[in-house]
Amino acid sequence: MITNQAKAEKCKSTEMLKKTRVITMETGEPPCEHENSGEATNETVQTLFGNFEGHERFNFPAGIIRVTSGYGGEALLYTGGEKTALFDCGMAYCGQKTVENLTKALNGRALDYIFISHTHYDHIGAFPYIKSAFPEVKAVGAAYSKKVFSSENARKLMEALGTAARDLYSDSKEPVRTDGFCIDTVAGDGDKIDLGGDSYVEIVETPGHTNCSISFLLQPSGTFIASESTGVLEAPGSMHTAILKSFSDSIASAEKCAKISGIRHLISPHYGVIPDFYIAEYWKLFIRAAYRKKEYVLEQYKKGLDFDGILEKYVEHYWIDTQAKEQPKEAFLENAGHIIKAILKEFA
Ligand SMILES: [Zn+2]
Repeated sequence: MITNQAKAEKCKSTEMLKKTRVITMETGEPPCEHENSGEATNETVQTLFGNFEGHERFNFPAGIIRVTSGYGGEALLYTGGEKTALFDCGMAYCGQKTVENLTKALNGRALDYIFISHTHYDHIGAFPYIKSAFPEVKAVGAAYSKKVFSSENARKLMEALGTAARDLYSDSKEPVRTDGFCIDTVAGDGDKIDLGGDSYVEIVETPGHTNCSISFLLQPSGTFIASESTGVLEAPGSMHTAILKSFSDSIASAEKCAKISGIRHLISPHYGVIPDFYIAEYWKLFIRAAYRKKEYVLEQYKKGLDFDGILEKYVEHYWIDTQAKEQPKEAFLENAGHIIKAILKEFA
């Protein structure tokens, strides 16, 4: 994805870029083929994400199998402990296919936990399908996620965005399910959920993208599954920021993550595995990109534009049509409104 922001970020991180080369960036170039680390799925993915040279972003640390189906949302299964754990669920429209991938990857084992990074439709849309297939599974999430799940408005938004994604990415006319969302175990900062053997998940609260955003430190491998509060890597040197709730919370979350010792592997939401040499740069890149977006929005505000005017400028500046491969425009617009409001609320 080439946005002005991305271009600027690329210039900023020249040191890192010496080590990298963007292979697939936007339409017009041949789609890249990605093999999943697990046997569960093996599909050709057309994507706007850019790769680091010699690095396979779906080559997950030992025990993690990518069970994602379809576009737009990821689902990662951990089978390295005595108990199994799914990190996010992916989209609703392909929920049944995700269940098939999951069943195959579990290979007869039970699904013990679903860890919910936050309550957005692209992360938990497939939850109702997975819960139906594995009714014993325990959902782990933030206290605020539990609150969101009790909101009828949140459910309606999930339905609207899930349906937009269905229409964009599939030929299906099946209504998307939005029933049965729940949190069985509320988890907060520092809580550890034992997966048996020497495996456990430590919860790291990282608000900013939403109030309910949490990240996961999976041990003993030192695998950090970052939340969207600290960005989505698009390509080497290019970070997408989606600060929907609080700019200062997001920056604090990134600073907190940067200080965690023992992160040996980093997984960026939607993107996959970040190369080891890039882990320290990841948090810095996010903070720079976040400040740049904030400045852009405030510039428009200072020119005297009202909310609608700023939104129009924002869409001109940040939306590119190829982005629809990863996110329906409806969801982009929904997010854009929140991003602008969050900045104006804090700084205008
Ligand atoms: Zn989100």
